[in-house]
Parts: sequence; C-alpha cells; structure tokens
Amino acid sequence: MNLDYARPAALPWNCSKSVENLGKGNGDMNKLKRILVTGAGGFIGHHLVRRLKADGHWVRGVDIKYPEYEASAANQFEVLDLRKADNCLLATRGGIDEVYNLAADMGGIGYITAFHADISRNNILINAQMLEAARQNEVKRFLFSSSACVYAQSKQKNPEVTPLCEADAFPADPEPGYGWEKLFAEELCRYYFKDYGFETRIVRFHNVYGPLGTYDGGKEKAPAAISRKVAVAQDGGEIEVWGDGEQTRSFMYVDDCVEGLIRIMASDCRDALNLGTDELVTINGLVDMIAKIADKRLNKVHNLSGPQGVRGRNSDNSMLRRVLGWEPSIRLEQGLAVTYRWIESEVRKSPKYVSEASPVLAQVR
Ligand code: NAD
Repeated sequence: MNLDYARPAALPWNCSKSVENLGKGNGDMNKLKRILVTGAGGFIGHHLVRRLKADGHWVRGVDIKYPEYEASAANQFEVLDLRKADNCLLATRGGIDEVYNLAADMGGIGYITAFHADISRNNILINAQMLEAARQNEVKRFLFSSSACVYAQSKQKNPEVTPLCEADAFPADPEPGYGWEKLFAEELCRYYFKDYGFETRIVRFHNVYGPLGTYDGGKEKAPAAISRKVAVAQDGGEIEVWGDGEQTRSFMYVDDCVEGLIRIMASDCRDALNLGTDELVTINGLVDMIAKIADKRLNKVHNLSGPQGVRGRNSDNSMLRRVLGWEPSIRLEQGLAVTYRWIESEVRKSPKYVSEASPVLAQVR
C-alpha cells in the first residue's frame, strides 16, 4: 500500500535517528533490547514499533486488533485482550526488557465523555494487570502512557490557560472517567516502585496527531476529525466545529511523541512528565490552518451543543527540558501538512466519503 506521507526533506525529524544523547539515566540503555509495545495496533503504538525496529531492537506488539492502515513492523504481533490477567502474563513472557504500555480504550472528546463506565473499567483492568504481569515476569522497566486529562479541570477554565505543570494534577479534579483512571494508574506505578522496587516511567501526553491515526468512526481526535471534514468539504462550503471554537489546546506530532517516549524510558525520572508542545492554538485556528493547507475557503458552523472538553489546555515543558534536555519541536503547520495529505488520500479511497462528498472528490477518484 502506498501511504504517501513521506516527510519533506526540510523537516527536522528523522525516524532513523537512534537513541543517543538521551540525558542522564541512559546507562546501558543504548544496547539492543527485547521490547513489548501494547496498543501496537493503535496509532502511537504502531509508530513506536516502527521506530524501535529501525533502531535495531527485537519488538513484540500486542493489541486486541491488528493495525488498520499498514502491517506492523514488529518481530511478533499477538492479538490478545489485555483485560485478562493470563493474557498480560503471556504478553510479558520471555525475558522482556521494557514494556511500553500504550493499550487503552480511548478516543477523542466525543468518545471519552460518552462512555465513562466502559472506559474506566477496561483501562483499570489493562493497567493493573499489565503492571503485575510485567513485575512477575521480571521486566526491567515499564512505561505507562497517561494523559493531560489527569489535570484539574478547575485550572483549565480559560482559553488563555497558564501551561500546566506536573504538580497541577493535584488536588485531584481530573476529567471524569478517563482522567480519573489515568491518574490512579499513575499512582499505581508509584506504589509498584515503592513496594517492589519495580522501575516505572509515566508520560502525560498532550494531544498527539499524525498519519495512520483514526480519522473517523467516533474515536478520532480533533486534528484528524477536522482534516477529514476539510477533505470532504467543497471549496466555499461549510464545516461543523464543536463548541464556539475558542477553546484552546496544544498538539504534538507523532514523531516527536515517539522520540519523547524513548527518551523518557531511558531517563532516571520516575515522576510523571508532560510530553507535548506549548504551541497553543484555538480550535478555530486549527480549522483555519488545515483549510489553508487544503487550499479551501470554508465557513465554520459552530455546534454549541457538541462536546468540547476543558476551555483551555497547554503543556508546561520546564520539567521535561530539565530531565531530558529536549522537548518536542515539530511545528503544528508542518505536522498538519503531512497529516492532512494522508487523511485526504484515505478519504479519496473510501467509497463512504466519495459518495457523500463533493463532486471534486468524486472526480479525483
Ligand atoms: P489508539 O486507540 O490508537 O491505541 C490504543 C490501542 O489499544 C488500540 O489499538 C486498541 O485496540 C488497544 N486496546 C484497547 N483495548 C485493548 C485490550 N483490552 N487489549 C489489548 N489492546 C487494547 O490510541 P493512541 O492514540 O495510540 O494512544 C495510545 C496511548 O496514549 C493510550 O494509553 C492513550 O490513552 C494515551 N494517550 C493518547 C493521546 C493522543 O492524543 N493520542 C493523548 C493522551 C493519552
């Protein structure tokens, strides 16, 4: 399959970059390892597997499903439901050095506000049982993928939000469901180190986007959903935006995310760390950027009853810079250009969108 999302040469990131200059804590971490990535059938996990393989590691991918858009690069890919303890033991068997635990029941704001019970139950089961299985199988390090949804909602009421530093998760007032279970799983990681000396790392992602991520079906996040809507819209047409569009976020391109994950795993830091950019943008601004990339003029129609989450959220990267001497640097416009082109090419291939969409798309097909 031709994915057509090659990175323009001028961009500063490079997948073949190996783990080097990782700051303190890398010790013998540059050696080749046996690595388990859970959630390897999903967006970030799939990209991470590809990068770890390119760096020369042996990689097992585990997920409840295969990747949707291209085959996994993993040495082994096993379809397992990690809500079951036995499957977590199977996944972590055989001398695994590191686990990146990315498996989760999650989606964009529409999804995580609609299914509190299912999301919480599924993710509590995955996280608690993966930690225990990894400990029993003597895995050396375990990285938990947390979220900026752990941050106190009371500190995110203003679009001009003060960037959130790690301490802002307490006193606890996270996103209902998804945010609470992430915050408790962070605590569980700390307890495992305190009681068992089990090495854990905790990463709080701020909105990750890029090619090969879900762009329809209800689990898509804002950059992918808006890219799809722009791709389907006719020039001069309308685009629906949830809320008044003045809510703000920062967005991180997936290659920065993968780079950060590997660096945090290799660091000495057991505290939770933000991993995001601090390039704040309104959702209206995000729509304008994507429309410009697509070279379309679109009228925004604001759906004020659509879910929009907190009013403003940004990442304070001071601690990340201190720990790693590094932070994500890919500009939103650069990453969105790659992402939009990929989603546009997917939409063009999809009978669902070609029939719904503009004559322009139908002609292209
Ligand atoms: P994703 O939905 O693309 O990937 C998650 C994967 O977990 C999916 O492939 C899914 O099938 C798998 N999974 C779900 N239930 C499972 C089960 N019972 N057993 C095995 N696998 C199961 O999401 P993503 O964007 O790649 O996110 C990866 C991690 O990062 C998740 O923990 C997520 O909560 C976290 N995160 C992501 C973002 C983001 O912006 N993408 C932001 C904050 C946190």
